[in-house]
Amino acid sequence: MRKKIIAGNWKMNKTLEEGMGLVSEISNMLKDEYTGSASVVIIPPFVHINAVSKLIAENSRLASGAQNCSNHKSGAYTGEISTEMIKSCGATFVIIGHSERRQYFNETNDWLAKKVDAVLESGLTPIYCCGETLEEREANSHFGILEKQISEGLFHLSAEQFKNLVIAYEPVWAIGTGKTASTAQAQEIHAFIRGLIAAKYDAGLANSITIQYGGSVKADNAVELFSAPDIDGALVGGAALQSRSFVDIVKAMA
Ligand code: PEP
Repeated sequence: MRKKIIAGNWKMNKTLEEGMGLVSEISNMLKDEYTGSASVVIIPPFVHINAVSKLIAENSRLASGAQNCSNHKSGAYTGEISTEMIKSCGATFVIIGHSERRQYFNETNDWLAKKVDAVLESGLTPIYCCGETLEEREANSHFGILEKQISEGLFHLSAEQFKNLVIAYEPVWAIGTGKTASTAQAQEIHAFIRGLIAAKYDAGLANSITIQYGGSVKADNAVELFSAPDIDGALVGGAALQSRSFVDIVKAMA
């Protein structure tokens, strides 16, 4: 049975005080209202990770993560954050290759492959993001783009390493736009990604990998998205900034 994971990416939002309030609310609401099977990952800005991790330590359903990391272990890289630093603050997940990193910080698949290595070396779990732009989908080149993102970013890994990652399919045209991929569109891509993994490694490995969907997930579309056989959770942006909307998404996962 694949792990079901709902992750909330706060991006560059929330002061420390606001963030602590949000995490307390989420933690309490989950305790009171949710008996399902999903794990929940809170992914705040770097500077809040330590405090968030301490706050959620009592709630075994909750984990924390980082939104990015350096591909270097340590050294003269002003402003960068290493995977060991992230780990020492209590986080266990790291988002790699979010479309905003690819778009605004020119992160390429080859560059991201190094970050994936750094995350795995530290014993953390990468959430590797992939997804096509609207132009790519309209030009019907999205399958090729996804194949490139997956193969260049991940296919240097051994099967043993590959077991320890999560993939998030996030069509760029659906992120923060209010336009969600239809369940059929998302399921088609999730099955395609699983097929790529099966062809490179084997079907058993492909079937064990958690593949999240991301892109304007809300409580009212989550139930349908989560009913698709290859959708194993969500990477949530906007709706993760409020406890009620985020917990309602979690509750959509049985
Ligand atoms: C995201 O940032 O990964 C995301 C999916 O954002 P939103 O849910 O706001 O579309």
